Amino acid sequence: MTNLPYDPADGEQFWEAIRKLPGYPSHETIPIKRMLFESGALFKTTDVLKLAGASQSKPLVVVMDETPMRRGAEDLKPFALAMLRREGWQIQVCALKADESGQVHTDMARIRQVKESLTAGCAVLSIGSGVATDIAKHGSFLRQEESGEKIPFVVYQTANSVSAYTSNMSPTFVDGVKRTLHSRYPDALICDLETLRDAPYEMTAGGVGDMLAVFVSFPDWYLAHRLGMDSTYSELAKNLIGPLGSLFLEHAQGIRSGDLASVSMLAKIIALGGLAMSLSDATTPMSGFEHVMSHALDLQAEVRRKPLAVHGSQVALAALAGAEMYRDFLANFDPLSLNVDACYPSAASMKSLVEASFAEIDPSGKAGAECWSDYILKLEQWRAHRKEFEDLLANWSWARNRLTAETCPPETIRQILLAVGAPVRWSELRPPVREREARFAFMNASLMRKRLTLGDLLIFTHWDRPSLWDRIWKIDG
Ligand SMILES: [Zn+2]
Repeated sequence: MTNLPYDPADGEQFWEAIRKLPGYPSHETIPIKRMLFESGALFKTTDVLKLAGASQSKPLVVVMDETPMRRGAEDLKPFALAMLRREGWQIQVCALKADESGQVHTDMARIRQVKESLTAGCAVLSIGSGVATDIAKHGSFLRQEESGEKIPFVVYQTANSVSAYTSNMSPTFVDGVKRTLHSRYPDALICDLETLRDAPYEMTAGGVGDMLAVFVSFPDWYLAHRLGMDSTYSELAKNLIGPLGSLFLEHAQGIRSGDLASVSMLAKIIALGGLAMSLSDATTPMSGFEHVMSHALDLQAEVRRKPLAVHGSQVALAALAGAEMYRDFLANFDPLSLNVDACYPSAASMKSLVEASFAEIDPSGKAGAECWSDYILKLEQWRAHRKEFEDLLANWSWARNRLTAETCPPETIRQILLAVGAPVRWSELRPPVREREARFAFMNASLMRKRLTLGDLLIFTHWDRPSLWDRIWKIDG
């Protein structure tokens, strides 16, 4: 059996061990006081709230959406609220309502709703999955920033779905485009294994998918660093997360059948993912081309008021595309045949490309303008760091080996997805993603953000992306 190199259930010992890793931010002592991964952890909620600094003489604001959830035979939310009332808490529910798409999204309106429900001395408990957690997190962060008063915040995680629970960031829709806002850590995390086991299975499969991002995001991060375009790079994330491929292959069966040991392992991996980002002070370690591509799909869904597919499963499909992209580029890129001067397009030509591309999905021009404001920063950086690119070309065989070590064959990713029973084709997502949408995302994702990934290198080097996409769609469509 493969073990986690660092177990987040180990409390202070965990923090002491990871503090020694290169790249650990010295100013962070113990950002999350307690992380519970236990059977019956629900019944320790009161203890955890008190540990986090919550006071029973002030309101406990419970943030949740209106989705019913089960835990064994119980209806989780009313059951938890009744228990907390019995144990002496003054509960004030902050209910998040779905928008026209039928889903709750992390947007400023919902975040403000939380912020405005908070009063002096209160504490916050979120009971929900990634979206409810992010909204509660950022609402309490904004209130804290304004009042200067620390708000105890405990996360009760209801699904092993995304790596949001332990992070100090909040991915939020701003003018329809997803942006990552700096936020706060929770003071404690409760992973009640029965709750996680009984979550809708597609969310759990999504949690595995979201973590598979690392096989694209790790090499993307290294690449950006090597090209002089990311100064935050360290190996902290890689060391924290450990041998992900083997862990997933060993636990796939258990994750699928709801075995509590495997449920706990997935919850821990997901917690480590959130910490890997937060402690690196960037989403970059867990968010490369595959997440940008997923954002490009979210943007299309938002504009069309279409519900979003499960985030992690969408990311997993995009990670497969990213893995194919790496394989193609690493096998076939020849620096000697490259016209380097032609790798530096003018700002004017890229501006019209960005505007024209995004006008296809948002004729108002708002999304295009938002994307361009981020993209121009990347283009300027790319021009300023030509020396690093030339250096990469001169040392390509070394760099290629280094990048290959960070990637993973798409076949292995597909094997993990199949073993956990997650979608392996775009058509299997719910709602299914059509070729037109996936192709748009693959071709234009890099135009949305300032972060450099292999997707940008493909654009700058005039790689034959349409043919590459056609091959990907043939396998994964
Ligand atoms: Zn994600």
